[in-house]
Amino acid sequence: MTKKVLLHTCCGVCAYTCVERLKNEGFIPVAFFFNPNIQPQIEYQKRRDAAFIVAETLGIQILEGEYRPLDWYKDLQPYGQETEGSRRCQLCYKLRLEESFKVSIKESCDYFTTTLSVSPHKTSSVIIEIGKDISRENFLSFDFKQEDGFKKSISAAKELNLYRQNYCGCTYSLRDRNNG
Ligand code: SF4
Repeated sequence: MTKKVLLHTCCGVCAYTCVERLKNEGFIPVAFFFNPNIQPQIEYQKRRDAAFIVAETLGIQILEGEYRPLDWYKDLQPYGQETEGSRRCQLCYKLRLEESFKVSIKESCDYFTTTLSVSPHKTSSVIIEIGKDISRENFLSFDFKQEDGFKKSISAAKELNLYRQNYCGCTYSLRDRNNG
């Protein structure tokens, strides 16, 4: 029987190549947009809308988690001064993947995984280790950067005229972009 995979989805741009790859490998992907890290809310809305466009274009189901940025901020604020890729980011991945695992069980999915490994700014092995720590049995260890994943996502985003962000998502990454 075809296996269902809950795909934690950070944005529409990254989602495209991951959905295609999962389908090519014989899975049924279900997108799950859960990103309380994204600030401000208007930015959240733009990324959310782009993810929904991709899901509709590729004919898959998409779910949206609760947007509670204050909860995220409460947990991650102590790491605000750290640089991108630091402990702060690892906790941010963990928080989103833990919720994705819970939702994958609730939605009767066989596995869960994440679009986060597409980004050239993120270390796939770190993301995969965090996923496996949450559930060795249920986490699908895909490195979506492989097979030109990012390049394919960018060209799909251009074709669909998707919104493309220029910072990772949280206020700290926005601050660093503005200072850099
Ligand atoms: S830089 Fe990105 S991954 Fe790191 S904490 Fe901010 S939103 Fe999360």
